[in-house]
Amino acid sequence: MKAGHFDLSGKVAIVTGGNGGIGLGMARGLAEAGAAIAIVGRNEAKSQAAVAEIERSGARAISVVTDVTDKAAVAAMAERVARELGRIDILVNNAGINIRKPPHALDIDEWNSVIATNLTSAFLCSQAVYPAMKAAGGGKIINIGSMMSIFGASFAPAYAASKGGIVQFTRSCACAWAADNIQANAVLPGWIDTDLTKRAREQIDGLHDRVLARTPAARWGGIEDFAGIAVFLASPASDFVTGTAIPVDGGYSIMG
Ligand code: NDP
Repeated sequence: MKAGHFDLSGKVAIVTGGNGGIGLGMARGLAEAGAAIAIVGRNEAKSQAAVAEIERSGARAISVVTDVTDKAAVAAMAERVARELGRIDILVNNAGINIRKPPHALDIDEWNSVIATNLTSAFLCSQAVYPAMKAAGGGKIINIGSMMSIFGASFAPAYAASKGGIVQFTRSCACAWAADNIQANAVLPGWIDTDLTKRAREQIDGLHDRVLARTPAARWGGIEDFAGIAVFLASPASDFVTGTAIPVDGGYSIMG
């Protein structure tokens, strides 16, 4: 294995939700490996802070304020990234939300909002970058699933449906675009300390201790735990890896 297998110099990566949490952890890893980064999110101040941080590390970065549920905005985002950064090689579909309610209490607008943000956005962004990846001779798509891609939870009907869907969507892209040298894989995070789960810990009694007890690594994940998997799945090192769903969970999913 040559060091060049993990080299992303000259590559351009789009990271949705890259202004915080797991997306920022992945963006930092991709930048460290040499990629230029487009941070895609709605909160401009948060995105600018992420861009400034990545630039300080020596990599190129831009912010493209975009609601990833909006087809026209996503198309404009892809067009701007290709124009300003010159190409698109890597797409991380990471933007996500949760609304924690049991199925009988979730209303249709809440269902639609979670599905649009977590699942339809991956379809829109993947479709929008496909021509540029094909033109570049290949590409890498990394979709963020969840333990809810595998398990159920009483409080996560739309979230679990979206995250199960993301795994199947990943497999379809992997099959459809293999001939274009595009690899598509999913990453399934365990319980990671981010803004999203800070809210979960407030809303679900005893969650913090249950996660510690259930996770063989006996800790919550940090966003730094996502740099390595992002670089692997974005680099030539993973050229024969496609359609997979890889847990990054401290062993949560194999604990009996
Ligand atoms: P955060 O809340 O920290 O990050 C979510 C990101 O998504 C934000 O950067 C937000 O940016 C962006 N986002 C949300 N809605 C939109 C939208 N409509 N358009 C553009 N960007 C949007 O959460 P995490 O880092 O925890 O979550 C990242 C991903 O990881 C999600 O898909 C989540 O489901 C998944 N995950 C997280 C786990 C965890 O334990 N933390 C476990 C398993 C999966 P902005 O506000 O600027 O729009």
